[in-house]
Amino acid sequence: MAKKSIKDLQKKDLEGKKVLMRADFNVPLDGTTITDDSRITETLPSIKYLISNGAKLILVSHLGRPKNGPTPEFSMAPVAKRLTEILKQEVKLAPDCIGDKVKTLVNGMKNGDVLLLENVRFYKEEEKNDPEFAKKLASLADIYVNDAFGTAHRAHASTEGVTHTLPAYAGLLIEKELTYFGKALSEPKRPFVAIIGGSKVSSKIEVLKSMLDKVDTLLIGGGMSYTFYKALGYNVGKSICEVDYIETAKEIMSLAKEKNVELLLPTDILVADDFSADAKTKVVDFKAIPDGWEGLDIGPKSIETYVNVIKKAGTVIWNGPVGVFEIDQFAKGTFAIAKALADGKAISIIGGGDSAAAIKKAGLVDKIDHISTGGGASLELLEGKILPGISALLDK
Ligand code: AMP
Repeated sequence: MAKKSIKDLQKKDLEGKKVLMRADFNVPLDGTTITDDSRITETLPSIKYLISNGAKLILVSHLGRPKNGPTPEFSMAPVAKRLTEILKQEVKLAPDCIGDKVKTLVNGMKNGDVLLLENVRFYKEEEKNDPEFAKKLASLADIYVNDAFGTAHRAHASTEGVTHTLPAYAGLLIEKELTYFGKALSEPKRPFVAIIGGSKVSSKIEVLKSMLDKVDTLLIGGGMSYTFYKALGYNVGKSICEVDYIETAKEIMSLAKEKNVELLLPTDILVADDFSADAKTKVVDFKAIPDGWEGLDIGPKSIETYVNVIKKAGTVIWNGPVGVFEIDQFAKGTFAIAKALADGKAISIIGGGDSAAAIKKAGLVDKIDHISTGGGASLELLEGKILPGISALLDK
């Protein structure tokens, strides 16, 4: 079901209105210095749309995982400072996110002003989705906007609770996420290919099964491959392998047959004698992984096969690296996939987390159609789950 976005609100609906927008300003910090401000810059389209239409914009976010209430190291102060620089207008930081002091600040706002509330996770009620806390937060505003895709899979007070008393709209970032994933999952340009990698089968069962209902080809890579090889009866040496999931791997392979989905496993493997940057390595056939060695990347033949599948694809969704890309000598496969996606004609969608990090590391961000801003949230979308922060928004 399509959701209403702030584009459904015009100047007449926004001018002079107090708008509470949930953003994901959970930025990486080195002390009080923001080391990567992309989470802030990604929300700028929504911020600019709202203030240019005369809204009084109240921003709310979490930062880190404060356990014991207000703590200076988790203050939103660095975000307020950065927003002030980027927007070239003062973004005040409220001393709290609810209460009379905040209300007074909100009442003093002029059209187009921006106020940032203090870390919403200073209250344990936030993650508990406490209704009273949600009401207090909602009482600050007339309209609610959610632009925090990264937390949309959690029913928290600032992502779901507030929608019980405020009309709720998607921000432009969430709208973009829904457009890309929605289109790919419901009417993909074919052939539709999913590349699912990462360390374990156990954390990707749902996404693997759900993809089998949608894609033409499923490319498997990374640590999870070895559980599949074991299920086929081969030796995997010291490679990561989840023996408790051998039956699951068998089930996934037989589901693929049943649904006529081409499921490919790497046919050659880069094995190492140690999980380290200076390990000895060699390329072996997947049926011949020697004892004492572990597979840490896909081999050159598999790279060629996977790149060719990607080249011919109409849509590609990628979640999870195909090797231990954090170590240079095991990163070749993952970077080759990244490059194939960047060079290819397919609509390319990257789930957040590690695959997004690999794309960034490879310097290919600009060549990908959509890099999701939420690892967990995008995985849940791919699993076919309903995200509470999204279902709570008004239907179109
Ligand atoms: P995930 O969080 O499940 O998507 O897994 C990502 C992690 O899987 C990355 O940190 C990779 O280093 C790791 N990974 C990828 N391939 C392998 C492999 N062959 N053996 C062990 N870990 C791997």
